[in-house]
Amino acid sequence: MDETKTCVLCNRTINHDEGIGVVDTYRADCPVCGRYILNGLGSIGLRSMSKDDKAMLSAYVRDVNEFGSGECRLLDFDEQQMSDIIEQYKKKSLEDKVDNFIKYLMKKTEYFGQEIEIHFTTDYPITYSKNVTEFENIFSHVKQQEFIECDMTKNEVQYPKLSVKGWEKYEEIKQSGPLSSKCFVAMSCRDDLRDAYDKGIKKAVEEAGYQPIFIEREEHNEKICDLIISKIRECKFLVADVTGQRQNVYYEAGFAHGLDRQVIWTCKKDDIENAHFDTRQYNHILWETPEDLRKKLLNRIKATII
Ligand SMILES: [Zn+2]
Repeated sequence: MDETKTCVLCNRTINHDEGIGVVDTYRADCPVCGRYILNGLGSIGLRSMSKDDKAMLSAYVRDVNEFGSGECRLLDFDEQQMSDIIEQYKKKSLEDKVDNFIKYLMKKTEYFGQEIEIHFTTDYPITYSKNVTEFENIFSHVKQQEFIECDMTKNEVQYPKLSVKGWEKYEEIKQSGPLSSKCFVAMSCRDDLRDAYDKGIKKAVEEAGYQPIFIEREEHNEKICDLIISKIRECKFLVADVTGQRQNVYYEAGFAHGLDRQVIWTCKKDDIENAHFDTRQYNHILWETPEDLRKKLLNRIKATII
């Protein structure tokens, strides 16, 4: 079908693999949005969205690709979750846009003074821009602020390098994460996982000196609400236990990534085969008992949450 040969979000020509796992499901590799997984029905829904909304989803997918799990499972999100994402991305301020661009440049930079290749036509989602023109303007602004040095020409491709001021700005961005002592816990509310929370995650988070935030809800309620979003915002980091493969766990972890919060992934050992992404990209904590989970998680928090 021709339909899957252009990106549903940005209309670019994409590479795609048909029928991965489930019939009608495909993996897209878009030069603008990055990699995502979608099915036929989801494609139809997305194509009918407004251009601006699609641009925000494109920014989200690119974010997940650059700074999150690497591949975005768009097919897991329902309409409400899609519109939550779009709303969150519409709210990004000019400062958020500039910060994300600097973060991206730093991610690509291997040594001070290195020039990084930037394509206006494919890299605009990194600044949460609606289009190429917005990115060009943000680029000029970042240059005026002297965060980058670049011989500005009219070319579509630019080679900026982070200046001393840009490196300093990056340090500021890194440290501007909340000084919060809270940890959001995203996991299934299934009864048989109760002990994993009470005796595993809760204890480990507390022993590490943080306050766990776990919002109990109906097991089948996958809706993300304002309360959850605001709680995630308040947290310094998030623990995502994917045992049971609840959609909301992936979704909340995705939000935390978008807000630049660190995410620690955990999963019961006998359930890891079912995890929704390429686990090789992630260093999951695999646990067998709540006590095992407590010990491993405590070590991980101590080692990685600064
Ligand atoms: Zn795209």
